[in-house]
Amino acid sequence: MASLDVRVLPVLSDNYVYLARDPETGECAVIDPAVAGPVLQAVDDLGWRLTQILCTHHHMDHIGGNLEVKQATGCRVVGARSDSGRIPGVDEMVDEGDTVAIGNREAKVFETPGHTSGHIAFWFADSNALFCGDTLFSLGCGRLFEGTPEQMWTSLRKLRELPDDTKVYCGHEYTNSNADFALSVDSGNAALKRRADEVVSLREAGRPTIPATLGEEKATNPFLRADDAGLGDAMGLDGQDPVAVFAEIRRRKDNF
Ligand code: ZN
Ligand code: FE
Repeated sequence: MASLDVRVLPVLSDNYVYLARDPETGECAVIDPAVAGPVLQAVDDLGWRLTQILCTHHHMDHIGGNLEVKQATGCRVVGARSDSGRIPGVDEMVDEGDTVAIGNREAKVFETPGHTSGHIAFWFADSNALFCGDTLFSLGCGRLFEGTPEQMWTSLRKLRELPDDTKVYCGHEYTNSNADFALSVDSGNAALKRRADEVVSLREAGRPTIPATLGEEKATNPFLRADDAGLGDAMGLDGQDPVAVFAEIRRRKDNF
């Protein structure tokens, strides 16, 4: 079966914009066009035909290029119904469990509040691809600007249920600093140490650390491991419930 062809565009200081094309139909989406210029240039260089914009959340470094890309290509804009007032140019509004298609490739929509109240993620099961914006990062998660620890923990557990071979396409290249923090709370984790070394090598070579695989994140990302008793114990939080452990990991990261 054909899979999405995904291209990674680094823009601004540390954002990733993604182009995803269905090889069967030639339909192509851009996920979170922070800026229009590099997106239009890349589509032109590749000879791809942009048919839609998929938006994970309303922050400017994700939707900043919406209107210009829409105007230049005539593509339609897909965003969360609950956040439709904050997604420029939105044409198609989606909720939890809805399906979004790029040609013959279908994604399931997850509502993942926490970073923002209307944040959503797109999971293309047959391409093993998850576009999760600023909810899940490699070795980290988004800051809680509009949500509670409980909401974010629930959102992350939803994503954690996806298969291990899911490729995680997140909104930012934060992996190196996330690794430093993760090691500060989970220094005995051998898989984390290996991933941290790999991240340093990738960045020294000027390469993205994305996509990470979800299986690797489950083993190494402290924000996905708040219900792991070993991690709670290591943080001096023996016996506390996962939401409290999650909240404490997030608090320490905010002050790291
Ligand atoms: Zn954001
Ligand atoms: Fe962002």
